[in-house]
Amino acid sequence: MDLFEYQARDIFEKHGVPVLAAAIATTADEAEKAATTIGGKVVVKAQVKVGGRGKAGGVKLAENPHDAREKAGAILGMDIKGHTVRTVMIAAAAPIEAEYYLSILLDRSNRTFLVMASVSGGMDIEEVAHTAPEKLAKIPVSAVDGISLAKAQEIVAAAAFPADVTDQVAQVLLKLWDVFQGEDATLVEVNPLVKTNDGKIIALDGKVTLDENADFRQPDHQSLVDQDAENPLEAAAKAKGLNYVKLDGQVGIIGNGAGLVMSTLDVVAYAGEKHGGVRPANFLDIGGGASAQIMADGLSIILEDPDVKSVFVNVFGGITACDAVASGIVQALELLGPKATKPIVVRLDGNNVVEGRAILAKAAHPLVEQADTMDGAANRAAELAAK
Ligand code: GDP
Ligand code: MN
Repeated sequence: MDLFEYQARDIFEKHGVPVLAAAIATTADEAEKAATTIGGKVVVKAQVKVGGRGKAGGVKLAENPHDAREKAGAILGMDIKGHTVRTVMIAAAAPIEAEYYLSILLDRSNRTFLVMASVSGGMDIEEVAHTAPEKLAKIPVSAVDGISLAKAQEIVAAAAFPADVTDQVAQVLLKLWDVFQGEDATLVEVNPLVKTNDGKIIALDGKVTLDENADFRQPDHQSLVDQDAENPLEAAAKAKGLNYVKLDGQVGIIGNGAGLVMSTLDVVAYAGEKHGGVRPANFLDIGGGASAQIMADGLSIILEDPDVKSVFVNVFGGITACDAVASGIVQALELLGPKATKPIVVRLDGNNVVEGRAILAKAAHPLVEQADTMDGAANRAAELAAK
């Protein structure tokens, strides 16, 4: 989960990373009040989860509270690369002498953590990485050792930070490691990290990505979810404990086991090519113990998706045998009643397949048809979706 800048700023503050006073506002009125409280010059910053705000006009200096009101009025409602600005952050303005760059990230390809550091920070760090890669130091960090003071000093030296700021930058690195590790982040980025004209080092812009796999031990992170942006179907599925991801196609998919569901997506996409480019509408893994309730929950989420034109239930009976799954489907359709409105192609195979198919045949639900093979079922579901 990516955080808004103001959320990253709050987390930085909690871990002792130096930041400036700030508050958020959703109206020009609130922005003026926040600027009055903070006092002096402020920066008005669009809160959108997309890079390059500054260049898009989403970061503006304001001389006084009245000016902050006007700047906020202009930024609120603005569209930045497809993201509508609903919130601005009002932050104390820093007199900047130099802009640096620091980040800690999970480097998947090298199976390690990585620190990137540069004295050429600011809005064009991607450009620097491209045209002058020698100005961007990249230092692997072991997950076991993390960032010690010695490691921080090594990073600061590798990036050639000027002597007057090395100690401060090393301390900031220790704190950022604390954020990275303590919050289970996969990315912590500060751009710019600035030196003010009185020689202080401050994190002026922060980007944090949290690892959702660690949600179970980070209960506080629940409050950071952006309810407005969450896909309503994904939110409903999450509330029911289902492993669901919304995609942009037309064939709803339910399967048991992540691997089977992944290959079902491929097979449907392939079959869909013959039917005008029909594609899978979602990923949904109902897991091993597919009870009627779980099947009903899964089916209702998929049937609520207006993009879905047909459903493909692909189950390989293992520990949960096909007859149990078939009974689950029948009961799920009873539970859903008139809410079930779209054709459902079911392919059962594996443990107790004969019994499972017999249960579906006996129920003879008008929306359900069976297919013997995965390819055949994918083709039929795609055909029904294309109608
Ligand atoms: P981004 O474009 O989304 O990365 O937004 P940033 O928050 O990094 O701001 C972009 C640029 O605005 C920075 O690189 C600074 O040059 C400038 N800026 C941001 N905050 C301040 C501030 O407090 N004072 C001054 N003088 N400039 C700022
Ligand atoms: Mn930035």
